[in-house]
Amino acid sequence: MGDVRAVPAATISRAAFDAVLFDLDGVLTDTALLHRSAWARLVEQQLGGAPLTAEEYAERVDGRRREDGVRALMQTRRVPVSDAAVGALARAKDRYFLELLDRNGPRLLSGGLRLVHAVRGAGMGCAVVSASRNCEQVLRRAGIGELFDVRVDGVVADELALPGKPHPATYLEAARRLGVEPHRAVVVEDAVAGVVAGRAGGFGMVLGVDRRGEGDGLRCAGADAVVADLSAVRVVTVDADPDGRPLDPGGAEPAGVAWDVDPPAT
Ligand SMILES: [Mg+2]
Repeated sequence: MGDVRAVPAATISRAAFDAVLFDLDGVLTDTALLHRSAWARLVEQQLGGAPLTAEEYAERVDGRRREDGVRALMQTRRVPVSDAAVGALARAKDRYFLELLDRNGPRLLSGGLRLVHAVRGAGMGCAVVSASRNCEQVLRRAGIGELFDVRVDGVVADELALPGKPHPATYLEAARRLGVEPHRAVVVEDAVAGVVAGRAGGFGMVLGVDRRGEGDGLRCAGADAVVADLSAVRVVTVDADPDGRPLDPGGAEPAGVAWDVDPPAT
């Protein structure tokens, strides 16, 4: 307890990075919970068999495109299905999700939004990279779409025929659109598939968000740091050591340190 300054769980330095690329579900919003409920309902109503487990969801479904998730579930459950059946199941899952979204609305995660504002305040680029084809709708309903310079979602991926996470293509496209090199960008992800994508894309830092006690899986997938809440992440805009302390302690004050930026009320 010698040092009264709390050491942040992770630090994003403006000197090291030009942009931060955020996953949507489980990072900025908690529609992950709605997605999970929709997948559970799909399994229950369309697939039969055992209920969807947390492990199955994390390893086979979370962060992937709908069709990929359906195929992965079929493989686990050893159910052969046609492409047409995969499409129908994927559309059913989307219907369930939109019903839940309409009923409950997207909820915002304050730690993620705080980090977005700190990143923007530090003059860094901001992107949202999501497998969801409902990304724009969720952002608009949440009132946070204007915070992102670039959006690469399931609709964009379809247009460009980009493979979904864990392939790095969607993250690389976002970096390209922002005009930043991957090694100068940070990926923020709550799903194993997304962490794998960030690692495979050669990004400078992959930050895992562990909201469900799956931190070990995120670390094994290659996350450089894992936090339970993005409020624990600092953004520094001056030369600083890895703990966010200015390198010149004789300076008047740590000017430019940009953590604790409150998002506007929504
Ligand atoms: Mg996610």
